[in-house]
Amino acid sequence: KPILAIESSCDETAAAVIAADRSVLSSVVSTQAALHERFGGVVPEIASRAHVERILPVLKEAMDEAGVTGADLSAIAVVTHPGLVGSLLVGVTAAKTLAAVWGLPLVAVDHLRAHLYACRLAFGEDIFPACGLVVSGGHTNWYDCPDPVRSKLIGSTIDDAAGEAFDKVARLLGLPYPGGPSVQQAAMKGDPEAVPLPRPMMNRPDLAVSFSGLKTAVRYAALGNPNSPEAPVPPLDEGRIADLAASFQAAAVDVIVGKCEVALKQTGRPTLLVGGGVAANRALREGLTELCNRRQVRLCIAPMEYCVDNAAMAGLAWEIVERGEFAPLDCDVTPGLVRA
Ligand code: ATP
Ligand code: MG
Ligand code: FE
Repeated sequence: KPILAIESSCDETAAAVIAADRSVLSSVVSTQAALHERFGGVVPEIASRAHVERILPVLKEAMDEAGVTGADLSAIAVVTHPGLVGSLLVGVTAAKTLAAVWGLPLVAVDHLRAHLYACRLAFGEDIFPACGLVVSGGHTNWYDCPDPVRSKLIGSTIDDAAGEAFDKVARLLGLPYPGGPSVQQAAMKGDPEAVPLPRPMMNRPDLAVSFSGLKTAVRYAALGNPNSPEAPVPPLDEGRIADLAASFQAAAVDVIVGKCEVALKQTGRPTLLVGGGVAANRALREGLTELCNRRQVRLCIAPMEYCVDNAAMAGLAWEIVERGEFAPLDCDVTPGLVRA
């Protein structure tokens, strides 16, 4: 019998039905991007209210599409961490209610491990052990993954996440929200070498990265540097925006790919798993492909539809079910990152 999975950690309300062989019978995602657009980022209170309005229709659609009722399910899975507390609570409350009413076991799923598990949905079960990268709106994390549930954090950004940097750069260039896709689109018409930008911490042998300084460098190149106000800045016209977008994207990709090489060396794993919203970026996918070809490592990037938040990736719950590790009905959300 399949499981019903719920994801509401940030600003996507999502539900999916996943069979024991990990085939996705339905995956419904309702994004709130339009609600947050004018703020240039996710507003937590707006997000939780929107989850409340959307969760029941999204659940109904996922179950209708898969052609299942409560009686056809074996468990209810839900993302309990990390994320926005008000957002997580909506999904977890819905999951507990359904589990209680239908008499089904509850499974708690980690959002970041689920981002990596999205790769399993496309590449099959032999992708573990692996080295993992989650590159998303809130995280830029490297993992050593002996198996799908016991991955260990081995490095991360010391400030902004990669997706956050894309969103902030988009905002300062006047490009629409969410920033990742619009920076990628603008970059297509730009020259990645037009604007010299730093690759912070890239040449350090450890797994720390920083995107805050890169973002500031883009700001100064676009709008002028307050420390040298006399230096001329080219007008921020369409061509300049494209060059800045392309140059930023190239710098971000260089840093991420460079650190993936460090992570592969450090873990010695034969496979690289990549998940999270920024994994949808075409330049990053090309950079990672080149790296993995050169190092003779198998590259498994999450399929495009499972990069940004979705509930299909919470099919990770099957691994937890198979270990018999169910969650109690009074389990709580853990908004912050749990370093396990
Ligand atoms: P987290 O997973 O860390 O909790 P999140 O769930 O909000 O954060 P995701 O939904 O995984 O993040 O990803 C959203 C992020 O991905 C946004 O920052 C968005 O700009 C970025 N993104 C989406 N598509 C692209 C793209 N093509 N290029 C670069 N970034 C992208
Ligand atoms: Mg989102
Ligand atoms: Fe996410």
